[in-house]
Amino acid sequence: MRITRYAAAIAATGVVLAGCSSDAGETTEDAAGGGAEVAEDVSFDEGTTMAELAESGTITVGTKFDQPGFGLAGPDGVPEGFDVEIAELIAAELGIATDDIEWVETVSANRESFIQNGDVDMVVATYTINDARKELIDFAGPYYEAGQDIMVAAGNPLGIEGPDDLAGQNVCSVEGSTPAEEIRTNYPEATLTLFDVYSKCADALRNGQVDAVTTDNVILTGLVAGAPDEFELVGNPFTEEPYGIGITKGDDEFRSFINDTLEASFEDGSWAEAWDRTAGAITGTDAPEPPSVDRY
Ligand code: GLU
Repeated sequence: MRITRYAAAIAATGVVLAGCSSDAGETTEDAAGGGAEVAEDVSFDEGTTMAELAESGTITVGTKFDQPGFGLAGPDGVPEGFDVEIAELIAAELGIATDDIEWVETVSANRESFIQNGDVDMVVATYTINDARKELIDFAGPYYEAGQDIMVAAGNPLGIEGPDDLAGQNVCSVEGSTPAEEIRTNYPEATLTLFDVYSKCADALRNGQVDAVTTDNVILTGLVAGAPDEFELVGNPFTEEPYGIGITKGDDEFRSFINDTLEASFEDGSWAEAWDRTAGAITGTDAPEPPSVDRY
């Protein structure tokens, strides 16, 4: 039922009112993102982040609010999507129910600083693991492998088949993102227009201000699903974007705990179920093989 409502909302409205999070009287199980069972009687070593979070009974999670399938806030401000459900699985393992998660919108450029300043306990936000970011924060995961792709106007009037065709074109991406950096570094003949969130790039493509939008394929797929008559995906990914969960640098115990939780979800099917309910419901694709966690 949740799948149907979610997919129908995306397909019917174009602008995505994925809201089914305010049902009163949900069981603990329902409330935890459609499946995650909230652990009871949890106990963690004193002084660890896990012990602190379990004791407080709440966790603050940074995620995207405008990315259908991964993190999309409904009218009540509560987000839904694959990233949201991954966060819910981790919270559940700490004994924290979905209703007790505090969601904070993080955009691409402020994720590291939000973690460093303690504004959030973790970031689950289509967040590519890379060495530059690892200087500032640490990553658990990956829990998904995306790739950079291009979205163009329906019918692809300019015949853009890959990043080389962006030379001389105006392409939109987001400040502080790896796709923006990729264009700046490797495709300098493209003109880059930057916003803070991808939904503004979609608007710019819609009104002809830019010729293309570039970011991860799964983000673009969510945008195309909302406006299939207006946009299309080129479908030729040209980078690797392993998605990790950002946490405070040096918190190795928390990182191991999240990695253990991810691996358990890969094995017991809850990761695949989360995919099917969210991103998979938009793309119409089965959950892929889960990636291998990198315990660096
Ligand atoms: N995964 C890429 C990144 O972390 C692009 C998506 C995003 O901006 O969130 O920068």
